[in-house]
Amino acid sequence: MTDIKSMDMAELSAFFQGLGQPAFRARQVFRWLHQGVGNFDEMTNLPKTLRDGLTQTCILSPPVVERKQVSVQDGTIKYLWRLADGNCIETVLMRYQHGNTVCISSQVGCRMGCAFCASTIAGKARDLTPAEMIDQVLFTQLDSGAPISNIVLMGIGEPLDNFDTVMRFLALVNHPGGLNIGMRHISLSTCGLVQGIDALAERELQLTLSVSLHAPDDETRSRIMPVNRSVGVERLFESCRQYFARTGRRISYEYAMIDGVNDFDWQADLLAGHLKGTPGHVNLIPLNEVKESPLRPSRRVAAFQKRLESHGVTVTVRRKLGGDIDASCGQLRRKQMLAEGDGREQNPGREGTIGERKRGEVSV
Ligand code: SAH
Repeated sequence: MTDIKSMDMAELSAFFQGLGQPAFRARQVFRWLHQGVGNFDEMTNLPKTLRDGLTQTCILSPPVVERKQVSVQDGTIKYLWRLADGNCIETVLMRYQHGNTVCISSQVGCRMGCAFCASTIAGKARDLTPAEMIDQVLFTQLDSGAPISNIVLMGIGEPLDNFDTVMRFLALVNHPGGLNIGMRHISLSTCGLVQGIDALAERELQLTLSVSLHAPDDETRSRIMPVNRSVGVERLFESCRQYFARTGRRISYEYAMIDGVNDFDWQADLLAGHLKGTPGHVNLIPLNEVKESPLRPSRRVAAFQKRLESHGVTVTVRRKLGGDIDASCGQLRRKQMLAEGDGREQNPGREGTIGERKRGEVSV
């Protein structure tokens, strides 16, 4: 079966040309696909024979809402979608003054192994397809009725570990015949895969790159983020500096504040030192507690912020949305997996994680 929604315009054109269809067909079908039609029969301006042919040869399996949680505090909606193969992923709709933002997943699970993150506990099952990434935006918009103006790739998975798919997704949502969301309205968050950052820099996209830093020193960062064990903080900042030089886009550094781990003044001083000479912005995140992890939220967020600011660093503290609905990464999917008896408690992951961390073994 052909994954027609993952095709770009050039591929669609070739596809319909191969079927002996007129040139305008690709644009017509692209428009339908990116409006989120549930089946080919809804493409009413297509000849019936073509609709039947597409039904037989192409997949168009929209995700099904498995669970939906609406925050009474702020209207945040968290979706747990069931994909065609039975896997579940999460998408979060957040309502900000500057527009509705959808936070989407890029993989089913994650193999990065960060100690504080619920998404990675059971490893990575598989990558998402471009269509499955677009569907999260489309069907969140259709189900909620909220027009989406911003996308953040900060859900389950590591976007730069699914690089080609994510690049295709970006081109598709950016297309004027589809969702037409501008690159400046898209953020991509990475745990710091330097080859991916370097490759992204070469594309010179105008999106916002967020780097999940979480610690400015190798000892701490390697302890909580296995990705740091092979590529240290120095090398990561080297890629960040190159990224800024190439794109002119300021990087946003995510920093989840963990009690007694990364919240000391000397770490604020070290972080400020790394940022010298490269415009960047630090986003402090109050840690969301994950049941399986011994890590606890820091009580020094304001003090850490002050210390950074004393060095001239621009700092914001992330406002917590959807705190009443497990809206933090991977928590709802995790709940569902445990309910279905697929928590993989004994097994570090279907594909394993890049670190050799065993659960419960985080030394803090
Ligand atoms: N893999 C990507 C994107 C997914 S995670 C990345 O690492 O950036 C999105 C953000 O949420 C990351 O900054 C991640 O470190 C952070 N995060 C994960 N678990 C968290 C938790 N329990 N509390 C606070 N932030 C968390």
